[in-house]
Amino acid sequence: MNNVLIIGSGCAGLTAAIYAGRANLKPLVIDGHEPGGQLAITTMVENFPGFPEGILGPDLIENMRKQAQKFGAEFKSGSITDVDLGKRPFKITAGNEVYETRALIIAAGATARLLGLESERKLIGYGVSTCATCDGYFFRGKEIAVVGGGDSAMEEANFLSRFASKVYVIHRRNEFRASRIMLDRARANEKLQFITPVVVEDITDVSKGGVETMILRNTQSNEVSTLPVSGVFIAIGHVPNTRVFRGKLDMDENGYLITHHGSRTKVPGVFAAGDVQDHFYKQAVTAAGSGCMAAIDAEKFLEANPG
Ligand SMILES: Cc1cc2nc3c(=O)[nH]c(=O)nc-3n(C[C@H](O)[C@H](O)[C@H](O)COP(=O)(O)OP(=O)(O)OC[C@H]3O[C@@H](n4cnc5c(N)ncnc54)[C@H](O)[C@@H]3O)c2cc1C
Repeated sequence: MNNVLIIGSGCAGLTAAIYAGRANLKPLVIDGHEPGGQLAITTMVENFPGFPEGILGPDLIENMRKQAQKFGAEFKSGSITDVDLGKRPFKITAGNEVYETRALIIAAGATARLLGLESERKLIGYGVSTCATCDGYFFRGKEIAVVGGGDSAMEEANFLSRFASKVYVIHRRNEFRASRIMLDRARANEKLQFITPVVVEDITDVSKGGVETMILRNTQSNEVSTLPVSGVFIAIGHVPNTRVFRGKLDMDENGYLITHHGSRTKVPGVFAAGDVQDHFYKQAVTAAGSGCMAAIDAEKFLEANPG
């Protein structure tokens, strides 16, 4: 029987583990498919407070993990495949393992949708990004591209134009899903140039460890062209990792968990933190902050409901 089980070992889960560990709750953390979460796949993080020179994502996450272990957190590999939240203790299943826990913190994060190209995956953190707020600053004075046709693509393109000398907006259709106002704002921005209707066939140059060009194919004429860019921002949405909670916890229309009064979900004793319940800020520091909140909420809950 565990006091607190934490699903996910990204910034939110690890911060929750540090706080729950220091509250003597001996938390159990289940790593999932991506130990360390999204920061484990990036390079330099320049906006996490406390590191004036920046810190590599994998180093930052490894430090958090060691800090959690120091205070008694235990880690298990495996992905949660089912949850029974009907009554306490909650039953949490990871394949053949079933864990029982008095309180649950869900910090399962969200996964950025990618185009599915091998080069794109290999160049993440080396010129390919899914986060303009995180990485825009690295592209000062450079020509870059944003892929996508929704509101977030327009927002990212506008934001990136503060740094880049030019931002190409690449979209597979001539029509956009983005709202009129976002589209108008993007079209009025002189640094933005729209290229449609094209799909991205490839991003080069993996062998040089950085982005040099995009290979684009016009979906109407089939004409293939090469676009020199230094960075590519993929802005085609995120998918929260909440499938196992469907029908058990409240979610918004995109599957993000809904929390209230801090990190509480509709089930007493079940808390959510980080990107799994945040489609807006999506930052390491906000995920860490909400992980702290979830651990404090869980601690107070256990104090009142020892069960
Ligand atoms: C390439 C890249 C660069 C970034 N750069 C920055 C940056 O510079 N600065 C910044 O502030 N933010 C950055 N971000 C965003 C930041 O990484 C996220 O906001 C943050 O990681 C969210 O933390 P989280 O703990 O909520 O979720 P995640 O980091 O997504 O972690 C989720 C965890 O849940 C686990 N999990 C998922 N499903 C299950 C399951 N079924 N069972 C068990 N475990 C599960 C995963 O294995 C993972 O361990 C970047 C993101 C990316 C992708």
